[in-house]
Amino acid sequence: AVAVRQGLPAEALEFREVPMPQPGPGKVLVRVEAVGINYADALSVMNEYLTETQYPFVPGMEFAGYVTALGEGVSGVQEGQLVACLAGKGGLAGYAAVPARALVPVPQSCTPAQAAAFAVSYLTAFHGLRTLGHGQAGEWVLVQAAAGALGRASIQLARALDMQVVALASTEEKLAVARALGADVTLLQDDPDRVEKVREAAGGAGVPLILEVVGGHRIAESLQMAADRGRIIMIGNASREEVLVNPVDLMKRNLTLTGLWLNSLLRDPQAQAQVAAEFAGLLEKGHIVPQPGPSYALQDAAQAFDDLLGRRTSGKVIIEP
Ligand code: NDP
Repeated sequence: AVAVRQGLPAEALEFREVPMPQPGPGKVLVRVEAVGINYADALSVMNEYLTETQYPFVPGMEFAGYVTALGEGVSGVQEGQLVACLAGKGGLAGYAAVPARALVPVPQSCTPAQAAAFAVSYLTAFHGLRTLGHGQAGEWVLVQAAAGALGRASIQLARALDMQVVALASTEEKLAVARALGADVTLLQDDPDRVEKVREAAGGAGVPLILEVVGGHRIAESLQMAADRGRIIMIGNASREEVLVNPVDLMKRNLTLTGLWLNSLLRDPQAQAQVAAEFAGLLEKGHIVPQPGPSYALQDAAQAFDDLLGRRTSGKVIIEP
């Protein structure tokens, strides 16, 4: 699938024959089995992401498949091996040539769909909870869009870190998912008393850590839900509304608002050191089970993007080329 112009996925995506990618030096050729569709993929197609989109491009930043050929100088990976790739784009195709440095180790025994549901969500959750959020065992964390790809990963990782979770989502069905993953308290995102209920859940004083993914006008509520000295990690703006924060509101209650972008953390030696030191250990604790959600055929790619944007999905949206 190729995004040929700026627009909603249904208008922007076309199916084209493209040349077979070549595994040049330092690259591996991967037969794509499953693509994990992130909110960022949808925003890129619409040219609403953090970086400007250059058209045409093959969407699909995160995918998994089997290595079919190795470029010159590649070691540590074999033909036939299942790999997960964080390549920025290129997944929505039969084959992709990927720099070896874009391969991500995945937990053993993953299916291709699980491997495609892993890296973006779990690494982002980890950095939100620990690298930037400094979450500690026993602390409460607020997880929004809790049944989404990132939300599920955040709940699992928070529980693996012995943190306590308040989860928000838009439907009872999604809240049931959050509870099954270990959320301690679940609330509908539109519960009229949500601010008070979140504060009460965390003992009346508010939550010390918030993973903010909705943004827009809801950010003001997040500041109210936070405990004094609370840390709000700005990870996403799924509302796609303008976000207005008055820094004076942070000042009054000693709040911290921190931005998180996985792309830049992947190039940050300090963040990578924290992944090496802690993340692997959390995986070994066995709490971490990647959460593929609905699966679509390649020809239904526009529908997959549309369902993700329309809040109709739960878990990581998967496309199987
Ligand atoms: P999800 O699987 O979480 O799907 C998006 C969910 O957002 C929806 O299902 C919906 O859940 C929720 N949502 C809340 N408000 C709205 C709204 N107004 N419009 C649409 N959806 C809304 O997607 P991802 O896991 O891919 O991403 C979740 C968020 O995290 C996104 O904002 C994304 O951009 C961000 N993200 C940021 C990263 C970074 O590096 N900064 C990396 C990964 C993700 P519900 O129905 O429960 O409200």
